[in-house]
Amino acid sequence: MTDPVARPADGGSRLTVLAGPTAVGKGTVAAAVRERHPEVWISVSATTRRPRPGEVDGQHYHFVSEAEFDEMVATGALLEWAVVHGAARYGTPRRPVEEALAAGRPSLLEIDLQGARQVRESMPGALFVFLAPPSWDELVRRLVGRGTESADERQRRLDTAVAELAAEAEFDVTIVNREVHEAAEELVGLMTGHPA
Ligand code: 5GP
Repeated sequence: MTDPVARPADGGSRLTVLAGPTAVGKGTVAAAVRERHPEVWISVSATTRRPRPGEVDGQHYHFVSEAEFDEMVATGALLEWAVVHGAARYGTPRRPVEEALAAGRPSLLEIDLQGARQVRESMPGALFVFLAPPSWDELVRRLVGRGTESADERQRRLDTAVAELAAEAEFDVTIVNREVHEAAEELVGLMTGHPA
């Protein structure tokens, strides 16, 4: 059954979930959407991981303590949450999503695969978009190129990526991230029902 809030009859899909393997560029594509499409609302996740240099609390993430995250889970304040890369917890605050949808805004969640599966359970009418790398070699290059993780952490992320690539079939549509602005336009086209 389609969820009328998440997918209205006018052709636009109001709630869109963007997922894909680690380092494929989900965050960069979401940033390009934020820059060029202010009409699109993008969820700000809560996380227990530490901010990286340049990351701003409330803008890139809500950086919270373990106790604060526990509280959000216990009170049902998260639409979905997961432990990502065996390390920190990440989750989508529920209320802002509901408010954006109630306001009729095309809304985007940029989350990991485990989170996408949870949203599929709770909001089956959402549009599920898989962001794929042009190739496995390119994915490895991007992961190593970022240089923000230790060798152990990188290996853990590559292991996760293998499983994540296999999940493509669970998604409604795939966008190949060859060029960030093209991928962003394709995504917004899908979200609004007006293909780029
Ligand atoms: P990073 O630590 O590099 O910012 O993000 C690590 C991973 O966490 C990315 O794959 C990203 O998609 C995922 N992530 C970010 N926010 C959320 C969230 O709210 N829920 C879930 N399930 N995953 C998230």
